[in-house]
Amino acid sequence: MEEKVLTGKLYDIQGFSVQDGTGVRTTAFLKGCPLRCPWCHSPESQAFYPQLSWISMRCQGTELCKSRCLNACTKGALELGDTREDAVSGATLQMVHVKRNLCDNCGDCAEVCYPGALYICGKDYTVEELVKRLLQDKRFYERSGGGVTISGGEALSQPEFVLAVLKRLKEEGIHTALDTTGFASWETVEKVMPYVDLFLYDLKHMDSAKHKAVVAVPNEPILENARKIAAAGGKMQIRIPVIPMFNNDEENIRKTAEFCKELGDAVEVIQLLPYHNMGVTKYLRISDEPVAEATTPSDEFMKKLKRIMEEYDLPVTIH
Ligand code: SF4
Ligand code: SF4
Repeated sequence: MEEKVLTGKLYDIQGFSVQDGTGVRTTAFLKGCPLRCPWCHSPESQAFYPQLSWISMRCQGTELCKSRCLNACTKGALELGDTREDAVSGATLQMVHVKRNLCDNCGDCAEVCYPGALYICGKDYTVEELVKRLLQDKRFYERSGGGVTISGGEALSQPEFVLAVLKRLKEEGIHTALDTTGFASWETVEKVMPYVDLFLYDLKHMDSAKHKAVVAVPNEPILENARKIAAAGGKMQIRIPVIPMFNNDEENIRKTAEFCKELGDAVEVIQLLPYHNMGVTKYLRISDEPVAEATTPSDEFMKKLKRIMEEYDLPVTIH
């Protein structure tokens, strides 16, 4: 019997990243996440399956163009939609619209959409295919003290694939970071730990009920995994998204600081990440449902939170 080849589902690979750990890095974004953070910058990362995405500004809307995608869809999931003015010619173009309730994400329309307005988000890679791509940037990692970051979604939701990729990267002498929500079983975390040089670890709220109410999962496994990683000698960059009306009150910030203090030397730095609304337009690529928007916290407010955390003698930065 033929052996099944291990594959993972990714939605993006980005080179030259300087936000996802030390030095210049290439970040592999895995698809699928058990959390549902309303402020998610990459809503296309949440579903575990390939998804039809649509970027309105790329839609040509000419008669010839529309005939291609409309005819390609045999499920009746494409119809004529809004109009927009073409930036160059000034002509009024009628774009298409995806009826999400009828779309099964088959991708037939994306294949004939040459401008790339319709595309399938989510592609399978074998371990070797992904490692080969990541090694293309090896010279940049070596020059800058960078490496590879495995991110998501929640990468640990594809545990076998992540473990195999991390192992191969360590065989190649690559510095590895794992960007994680921490929401995984300890067995999974423990298995990948020997191959992770740095955890980029999110803390969202210290109250489990509030955590669950907003992001759909409780925080106990996340906090417990963080404690275990620290006790086992792992290194962590703690990331705290600062979300108005959710986790930005002084009480939660102090409790988060106390928890980070508990993790001791494992914490290399704490990054405070102010909310911004970059994800809002991305939701419209995969859904018609509007998402709630909040106001970006001011610099002054972020500095105040930083000062509070520094009272606990913690290394804190604002990103
Ligand atoms: S969705 Fe793609 S194929 Fe259809 S009209 Fe727009 S650009 Fe053309
Ligand atoms: S992905 Fe398939 S079902 Fe969905 S709109 Fe395109 S062709 Fe139709």
